[in-house]
Amino acid sequence: MQIVFATNNQNKLKEVQSMLPKHIQLLSLADIGCSEDIPETQPTIKGNAIQKAQYIKTNYNHNCFADDTGLEVEALDGEPGVYSARYAGPQRNSEDNMHKLLSELQHKNNRTAQFKTVIALHLNGNLHTFTGICKGEITKEKQGEEGFGYDPIFKAEGYEKTFAEIPLEEKNKIGHRGKAVKQLIEFLEKQESHI
Ligand code: IMP
Repeated sequence: MQIVFATNNQNKLKEVQSMLPKHIQLLSLADIGCSEDIPETQPTIKGNAIQKAQYIKTNYNHNCFADDTGLEVEALDGEPGVYSARYAGPQRNSEDNMHKLLSELQHKNNRTAQFKTVIALHLNGNLHTFTGICKGEITKEKQGEEGFGYDPIFKAEGYEKTFAEIPLEEKNKIGHRGKAVKQLIEFLEKQESHI
């Protein structure tokens, strides 16, 4: 089975391919000749994931999946959520985003937050979605050098260290994206066994 992963992030592509069984081959956007920016204009994380997968299905007629992730902070009514990448502005800068989030939370006691990843899959004309959630809290200051995005200020529930201080394999096991990808893989494996 060949399936397109609608991402320009080579790390994600490699990461997911390494988790998939050998008979499921991932195609990149480059492999199908898609070089344009795929629209992500929906007001929700799930909406954006569906929009991206739908775009590939409509324009390239390939089985496809796409992911979208956001950080939802309870005291900020779920913000930055779908706007996580551009929270502090269109420059999409992680340092600026973390700085803004820490200032917004400066006088708040409730620092509860969660990462949410939704994967939307278009397979043989049907749409499926898989959601991975990692609950935790926002720290008072940045800790650690690993990872990306908001990792230095997010501690998963039960952890003393931030995502930027734990090994990637461990983050993948307990993290939002890892959980969503696991559900996707289990689903794809089941489909294969019915063919
Ligand atoms: P995307 O949908 O995977 O591109 O994620 C959108 C934004 O959420 C990214 O630009 C990051 O700011 C943030 N983000 C997504 N996943 C993670 C993560 O695993 N750790 C920290 N930040 C993340």
